[in-house]
Amino acid sequence: MSDPKEYARNYYQKNKEKIKRRALNYQKQNRERTNAKNRKWRADNPERSAQIARGVYERRKDSLKEYRIDYKLQNWEKMRCKSAVANRVRAGILKKPDFCSRCGKTGCRIVAHHEDYSKPNDVVWVCCSCHKLLHLRLVEGKDHGGGF
Ligand SMILES: [Zn+2]
Ligand SMILES: [Zn+2]
Repeated sequence: MSDPKEYARNYYQKNKEKIKRRALNYQKQNRERTNAKNRKWRADNPERSAQIARGVYERRKDSLKEYRIDYKLQNWEKMRCKSAVANRVRAGILKKPDFCSRCGKTGCRIVAHHEDYSKPNDVVWVCCSCHKLLHLRLVEGKDHGGGF
């Protein structure tokens, strides 16, 4: 026979795992339910949800504005990248595509984006809307100042 204390401990350990799993499962299901509820609410309240979306946009617009001021003040390195790209395009070394490398859109202004300004040769060609998204991501992630 094994030690009853040992048995109790084992039993607890096993149950602890089960409880943890159950809790995780519950969280997951709960999240799905909440998402579904939110979706339904948005469908039922299109005006209110548009209002909320507008609010989010306004807040983002502000952060984008702030970011642009920052950009002008402190980021000469970005300017250097930008002019390096312009020079190489002019010299025919770099070819500017006529489509966005992110969404494939054509017929719009394609801009050169740098993920890393210490690598001016690493250029991502994107359309204006993808560029904005890339920078929103960078600003929100705070892992990079972003730039043009
Ligand atoms: Zn795009
Ligand atoms: Zn950029």
